Parts: sequence; structure tokens; C-alpha cells
Amino acid sequence: MKNAENGRYLAVDIGGTAVKIGLVDGEGNFLHTAEYPVDFDGYETPVLDTVIKSCGIFLEEFDEDDDGEDGGVPLLAIGVSATGSINTVKGTVDGSAGHIKNWKGSRIKERLEARFPVPVYVLNDANAAALGEVWLGAAKGKRNVVAVTIGTGVGGGIIVNSELLLGANGFAGEVGHITVRYGGRDCPCGNTGCLEEYASMTALVSQVRQEIEEGRLEKFCEGEVNGRKIFEELKKGNEKLEQIADQWMDYIAAGITGFVHIFNPETVIIGGGVSSQQELFIDKVRQKALARMHPEFIPGLEIVAAQLANNAGMVGAVYYCRQRLGNL
Ligand SMILES: [Zn+2]
Repeated sequence: MKNAENGRYLAVDIGGTAVKIGLVDGEGNFLHTAEYPVDFDGYETPVLDTVIKSCGIFLEEFDEDDDGEDGGVPLLAIGVSATGSINTVKGTVDGSAGHIKNWKGSRIKERLEARFPVPVYVLNDANAAALGEVWLGAAKGKRNVVAVTIGTGVGGGIIVNSELLLGANGFAGEVGHITVRYGGRDCPCGNTGCLEEYASMTALVSQVRQEIEEGRLEKFCEGEVNGRKIFEELKKGNEKLEQIADQWMDYIAAGITGFVHIFNPETVIIGGGVSSQQELFIDKVRQKALARMHPEFIPGLEIVAAQLANNAGMVGAVYYCRQRLGNL
């Protein structure tokens, strides 16, 4: 009999450079993982073609009991976490970061279901990561959660009453594209003044580079400035740099405060590489956010770093499969 405990899931995380594939059991344990490049010919071979081929290779190699006969372990579903604007209802890519050619319009669910005999569920990567944290990470067991990821952009996912908030088509949770500065910087999304333009790691790095170029901040490292070098320098107590970082964290905190007021979560998860900086980042952002918040939202509210790092998307995609199959 097929059930969540005995079955297995194929988890697929499609990014701009590689597809990660995992065979995962019903408890979220990874039995096998592999990674295949998707950008080897500048996306001339459509990413989805590479993904389907890679899944076939992966299953042939690792899922020796794939048909579930003779007491083998059945594959119950395929959960996909993918980059871009993902229409979760249709399982399609409806919008895409411009640099990935042949990606927008990809019919992920339809094509994978045509190739493999199990249901396929598709989420965008930030939504999947948020759900992963609720299942096995920083918000384990929590019912109302807002996840904000600080990276190249600002992504996120929102969980309401233990369900991922999808909106009408699955696009919900684009927390990076609320306007925080009316008439502000141009955002690639077409709007201006989006949170992402002020609160992403890219925003901090370019701000610091600009301050150095224009002579307001002394160059503090060899080579190109990046996020890691900025935080190494902050540890040494560079006051001018601290001011810049502080302003950046004010934007992050302002965004979080808004999300807390809208969703009244038990937990806010902050993800992205920078979330490993507990004292210099997480603690400060928490402090700044709490200082802005209506007091009644604060008791019981946790603002914490994400825990699952690179596997969060795959874990969340599997959890979403479990929820949809009713195996919870
Ligand atoms: Zn935007």
C-alpha cells in the first residue's frame, strides 16, 4: 500500500546553473542526491529538456525499486522547486529572470507527468524553501510563518494555517516587490522603489562599492567587494561601513515589520547566505523590526535564521507533495 512513510519522492530543484535531484523518503531523509548542469551551452538546450533527461538518468541509477513491485518502494510523486515566476496551478513557468533563455513558457508539470507515471507538483523556489523550513527547519511545527530570503534579490514565502499561500496562481509571496520608497530605484520587475532594490545583498554590495568609488569609504579589502568581505570587515568594527550596513538592515526590518502586521506570524525566517551572521545581522534585524512593531504582535514572535540552507527547496517540494497527496 502506498503511503507517506513507505513511499519515496523525487525532489527536483531547478536553478539557473544546475538542477539538483534527490530521492527522499516520507520523513524528509535524502537517500541519494545528484547535480547536473543546465547552462552548459548557454541554455540552447532548454533547461526543462535537461531536467527531464537528468531525472531519467538519476532514477535509473538510484531508484532500483521504482515500480514498487516485489516489495519494492514506490515513487509517490515528483516535487519541483524552480526559479522564476511559477504558476503552481498549471505547473508552468510564466515569467523568468531574463538571462535564462528558453525557460519562460516551460510546461514543467505536463512534461514530467508525460515522462514519469506519478503526479508532479511545482513551486517557485522561495515558496518551496519556506515550506521546507516549516516541515524540518527553523519553523518546524509552526502554522503561520513568513520567510524572507536575502540574496541576489529578496524572495519569500508565506505560510498561513500550515498551508503555503499561493494566491490565485501560485505567484503569492513576492515579498521583495512591495514598494518601500515611492519613486525610488528602478526594479527589474518594472516597478520602482521595490524592497529588493534596497534590502538585497546585491543592494548592499553595490552601495558599498559606490561609497568606495566616490571616496566616502576607504577600500577595506583586496579585490572586488562582496558580501562575505563586508561582514568580515564589520567584525573588525569599521564604523562608516557599519552605518551603511545599518541603513540596509533598516530596510529589511521595515519589510519584516510590514509582513508581521499583515500576517501575524509565529515565526519570521530570514534566509540567504548572510543569515549565518547571527550577531551582526539576524540579531540586529530582529531588534530593528521589533522596535517598529505594534506591541501586541510581539509576544511569542520569533525572528530567526533559516536552517536548511541548500536543500530547503527540495525538502519543501516533497512536503508539498505530501500535503497534496493527503499523506499528513
Ligand atoms: Zn520589483
